[in-house]
Amino acid sequence: MAKKPYSILSFDNDAWWFHLKYVGAPEKEIEKARKKDVVLLDGIKNCLSELEKSSLKATFFSIGSDVERYPEQHKAIAKEGHEIGSHSYTHPHPFSLSREKFRDELIKTEAAIKRTTGVKVKGFRAPSYQISEAYLQVLGEMGYRYDTSVISLFYPGYSSLKNAFLPRTIYHPSPTNMYRRGELRLTEFPISGLPLLPLTGTVILNLGMPYFKAIFNILRLTNPVFVINFHIRDFIELPSYRLQSANRYSKTANYWGTSLKKKLAVIRPVFDYLSKHTRSITYSDYLDAAGDAS
Ligand SMILES: [Zn+2]
Repeated sequence: MAKKPYSILSFDNDAWWFHLKYVGAPEKEIEKARKKDVVLLDGIKNCLSELEKSSLKATFFSIGSDVERYPEQHKAIAKEGHEIGSHSYTHPHPFSLSREKFRDELIKTEAAIKRTTGVKVKGFRAPSYQISEAYLQVLGEMGYRYDTSVISLFYPGYSSLKNAFLPRTIYHPSPTNMYRRGELRLTEFPISGLPLLPLTGTVILNLGMPYFKAIFNILRLTNPVFVINFHIRDFIELPSYRLQSANRYSKTANYWGTSLKKKLAVIRPVFDYLSKHTRSITYSDYLDAAGDAS
């Protein structure tokens, strides 16, 4: 019998304050959210409990400044044997920093995670998947083992149609073309999916378990590693906040208004399915177990 494929599950720890900032809420409300952030307080707790029920291991990509604000939640993640990666220090939006500023965001986040959990950061996910060759070069110079921000499929709002025809297996990127194989030592883990059908939490929550199972079973024929990401906001009843209609998010993320009950009705069977049909592993453990991409 063929070995079960690996699944690498991850969560972007985007806080509620960031979502408010993203939709253009007033600074006063953003500041209020930062002090008692429901997504980080309850989302992380609920997510850890769902992972435990399904015996899954995962990687959480955290904003460095939030690791400092919410040390207990991050200690709990590490204590359960999950990995914590960097999702920048301030989650700038748009994510277009100079190399120096990017380096600075990485250093501060690494320090926050090390101080809080004692663990050294090994991987990065770019805010809004906005990775570039320049950023990958900086990550490589700083000794990061992996990045997991490339969208080599068509994901409206995040990538263009031409991305649908790029390779989607794990690889070492070229320093001059991040979509091609090359000499960088760090490993890139592109998000899983078919050319026009991403296997991301946002899409899975919108289309449900039949979609997940269908894409999973097609990919399984060729792809031994699943890279699937959700957001930590998927694990709470979101506070009501009227999104500004001018913002594209209000069009693409209708499930924001979905109740926790409905979200869990999708997440739980997906987690159980992964638990039953895959070998659940963190990015770092995968690199240790399976070697790198070459
Ligand atoms: Zn994010």
